[in-house]
Amino acid sequence: MCGIVGYIGRQPASEILLEGLRRLEYRGYDSSGIAVRDLDGISIRKKAGRVQELARLVDEQPCPGNLGIGHTRWATHGPATDVNSHPHVGGNGEVILVHNGVIENYATLREQLQALGYVFRSATDTEVIAHLIAHHLEEQARLGKDPEDLQTALDAVELALRRLKGTYGLAILFRDFPELLVAARLGSPLVVGVGKGEYYLASDGSPLVGHTDEVVYLADHEMVLLTTEGMRLIHRDTGARAPSIQTLDQTQHDQDLNGFPHYMLKEIFEQPQTIENAMRGRLDEEEATARFGGLNLTVQQLRRLDRIVLTACGTSWHAGLVGEYLIEEFARIPVEVEYASELRYRNPPLSENTMVFAITQSGETADTLAALRECQRKGHPTLAICNVVGSTIAREADGGIYLHAGAEVGVASTKAFTSQVTVLTLLALHLGRLRHMSHPAGKRIITALRNMPDVIRETLKCNDAVREIAKKYHHITDCLYLGRQYNFPVALEGALKLKEISYIHAEGYPAAEMKHGPIALIDEQTPSVFIVPHGNMYHKVMSNLEEVKARRGPVIAIASQGDKALDNLADDVIYVPEVEDFLQPLVTTIPLQLFSYHMAVLRGCNVDRPRNLAKSVTVE
Ligand code: GLU
Repeated sequence: MCGIVGYIGRQPASEILLEGLRRLEYRGYDSSGIAVRDLDGISIRKKAGRVQELARLVDEQPCPGNLGIGHTRWATHGPATDVNSHPHVGGNGEVILVHNGVIENYATLREQLQALGYVFRSATDTEVIAHLIAHHLEEQARLGKDPEDLQTALDAVELALRRLKGTYGLAILFRDFPELLVAARLGSPLVVGVGKGEYYLASDGSPLVGHTDEVVYLADHEMVLLTTEGMRLIHRDTGARAPSIQTLDQTQHDQDLNGFPHYMLKEIFEQPQTIENAMRGRLDEEEATARFGGLNLTVQQLRRLDRIVLTACGTSWHAGLVGEYLIEEFARIPVEVEYASELRYRNPPLSENTMVFAITQSGETADTLAALRECQRKGHPTLAICNVVGSTIAREADGGIYLHAGAEVGVASTKAFTSQVTVLTLLALHLGRLRHMSHPAGKRIITALRNMPDVIRETLKCNDAVREIAKKYHHITDCLYLGRQYNFPVALEGALKLKEISYIHAEGYPAAEMKHGPIALIDEQTPSVFIVPHGNMYHKVMSNLEEVKARRGPVIAIASQGDKALDNLADDVIYVPEVEDFLQPLVTTIPLQLFSYHMAVLRGCNVDRPRNLAKSVTVE
């Protein structure tokens, strides 16, 4: 969610900052801005709207200099206006900063600072940080601290940060320290890119690609001082630490569209490959099981498990629901799927042998991170299923499984979902084989999994048919998605995709549950998407479909290839290859992703950057 960039070195900063902001656009934002320092002082350019509008402004009013910070804002306090855009200025221009996060006690601080004479220009919570640092700089001066000593700036920042409640990623420039860039983090990710005589700063690795692959991740309560001479890393409680330099996986941040009109479509079509990547090196034919390198749990610990909690938000939560069906079926371990935003403030009784799995594409989702920490505090092993290598959750979890899906840029998650489901299938197999599952049963699952990349390739051939169907329906205002068992979470996911990018109201429901309420919504204008492939639930779902038809509701069916029964029953049918029940989510999700994509394109929506949404939700 929103992004921060920074640069200090010898190159023109504004170009690097603008390019960095472009690469962070996928995270979601509503305004952007930069501040650049040269000999004459600091110039600020900021604007509500797209980064390209900011770039135009910078073209008209260039800001020369080799030191700067930039920001894409996802407004939490105050509307998305030019004034509320970051950077914000503290005091009389002593401090200029950008902020990602939320300051919960901003109202009290604002009153206190106003009483001291500080004048607020914006409606943001962020501005209090700028004035607060300016105030502490002034205090330092009053105490006779050397105004040229970097320590003075550092102390002022530290004193200010101690008064904040909430979360922040911060990048700060100082009027009176012309060669200093300070960054600090609590709850919002920041990474420093180490170049030769230059440093980059960013919310994730994507702005660093092509500049450097040496990175240092900031931890919570850490602050970094960057000058052209070097970097100093300081933890609020433990003091200075030597930076541990890690290698940035550049392929993780590939943002090439490869000829596709949108990232979302590109990512949908990458799924044969990403599903294969999620399985690579993890299928053990000999033992008929799945293996993982990083679970960091012994076989004994895994056998002793008596409960698994899967916690996540949004699409990852839907993947968790599929995981619940899979793990309970294969391994007979009770599973609960919890919204991370609920789990973090709940106090569910968890037994000693409960394992907690956080599922997150970005590894930065604030609620998921908080839920993970809460469970860690209580002594449970916590693991993560995550895509972004080196992300906060990946680093803080006791172990985990990476998706290896490559950068997911489209805000609506597609390939990460199917990779999560693939990894959860492997996990269910692994746990099942440690318990009662037989060798032949494990073997059968592996064989079916190996086929999946080809099956998905075949499934994607429905794209043209889906586009035609979307042409017929793109003016609708409501839509129901219905499926049962393994396809119930798929119904939820299909509805979420449609809401997210085409702004059509949609509800996912277990098909049989529909009778208990939503059936009242059925009329000639409200289509239902039925997920009804051949399998255990086929006849049951067909009965539910008849119930909708009996009430003149239009029906779009997702059915197995060769199912003639639907030709006369459904208004439109999208055929997909037939697979075993437990693999159906991987297949039936694809036409729903494509349907929401084409609906959104036909409605003229911004597919990759839907309104109000952010890619990785780093605020609570
Ligand atoms: N809370 C700040 C604001 O509304 C920062 C939001 C963000 O993370 O972009 O300006």
